[in-house]
Amino acid sequence: MNLDRRRLAVSLCLITGLLFPAGLTEAEEGSVLFKNVRIFNGVEPTLAEGHVLVSGNTIAQVSEAPIEPPAGARVIDGGGRVLSPGFIDLHAHVTLGTPKDMLRAHPWVRGAITGKVLESYLRNGFTTVRDAGGTHPELARAVDRGLLTGPRVYPSGAVITQTSGHGDFRMPHDPHPTLCNCGADHTLVDGFSVIADGEAQWLAAVRENFKHGATQIKIMGGGGVASDYDPIHTLQPTPEEIRAAVQAASDWGTYVMAHSYTSPAIRRLVENGVKVIEHGLLIDDDTARLCAEKGVVISTQIAIFRMGAELPGLTEENRAKMQQVLAGQDNLIGLIKKYGLKTGFGTDFVFGIYPRVNEEFAARADYFTPAEILRQATSENAEIVRMAGPLDPYGDFGEIREGWLADLVLIEGEPLEDITVLARPNESLVLVMKDGKIYKDSLPAD
Ligand SMILES: [Zn+2]
Repeated sequence: MNLDRRRLAVSLCLITGLLFPAGLTEAEEGSVLFKNVRIFNGVEPTLAEGHVLVSGNTIAQVSEAPIEPPAGARVIDGGGRVLSPGFIDLHAHVTLGTPKDMLRAHPWVRGAITGKVLESYLRNGFTTVRDAGGTHPELARAVDRGLLTGPRVYPSGAVITQTSGHGDFRMPHDPHPTLCNCGADHTLVDGFSVIADGEAQWLAAVRENFKHGATQIKIMGGGGVASDYDPIHTLQPTPEEIRAAVQAASDWGTYVMAHSYTSPAIRRLVENGVKVIEHGLLIDDDTARLCAEKGVVISTQIAIFRMGAELPGLTEENRAKMQQVLAGQDNLIGLIKKYGLKTGFGTDFVFGIYPRVNEEFAARADYFTPAEILRQATSENAEIVRMAGPLDPYGDFGEIREGWLADLVLIEGEPLEDITVLARPNESLVLVMKDGKIYKDSLPAD
């Protein structure tokens, strides 16, 4: 960027200060050449020295030999730093950035906090998130239009839950939304969740989410930690209701992801067509084998389950349930490795702890090599996100490949030797590019 463009950009930044708050720079257009970088391409466990040219929102060229910069291109000397695809969070809840006891805060307050969550994700190197429920797809469209600064969002719309299920966050005395003609709880009115009972309601709930623009469907398929009426062992919903959801999703060409922990719950979900299990911590060997046979993904989150005491707003009962499922973590990862299950990289960092989302990189180091973790957070997650099929509105991303979307992070440090550098993003992430635009740039001036 020449000086004039930089000055113009600074003025624009002052004018649009609300759109580009402190810590994130304004987006830039045009070509960008990254020279002298070591490339983690999203797949290979080694780094390749080279150069990467970005043109518009696309990776135009990846080369071992120097690339001649096009006229007007910004040239960034990587100085041997590591260039990786931008990170993807496979299990985010961008509208759950408030403490749990603020779930019912005014929608404007929760919306404002959601804006902070989005910016935080981008600043921390996440260029895409798959929202695991509760987020209206209009939010994703607002990001795409540039009205909000954040990662690309694959929204699931409202989570679908049965009465008294893991998505039923009403107060104990609240009326039922359909069994009574009274006002409903905020979590229902604002579309965090929808309570459905019976096949017809499950069909309608899924179809309504597609009307809003969901790219995949999230259902609550068993007892949960943060909800108050459903012990972990409970089975939710019935096989017929699961099949109704799966039918409506597959009719739209996409898939159902389901929250669940126990083997009986997972078995029921998988046997009735669910393709992605979220959490799965209390799975047994037979059920893991069934998942492998059916090509089912078990989407894991490691750090959050170790934070029971730190999560604001949880009750004692919630914390006890968290301990109950945490006990299965070692066994789950062992079975994922034994059967070669695809798992990806998710966080589930809800209830106010979103700025710490990169701690997931460090927590995973107990189980996986740095290269495995980086691959999970980039190319493996991207493969899972692409299961949305014809509902996926974007091009390919998650790898450094010619013709793919330019989602890139430039890393200070040696992430393939010590993945925990990524748990300190303020130090290690010197540049974040999403869709060819630079949003964070703390490189020293040329
Ligand atoms: Zn979740």
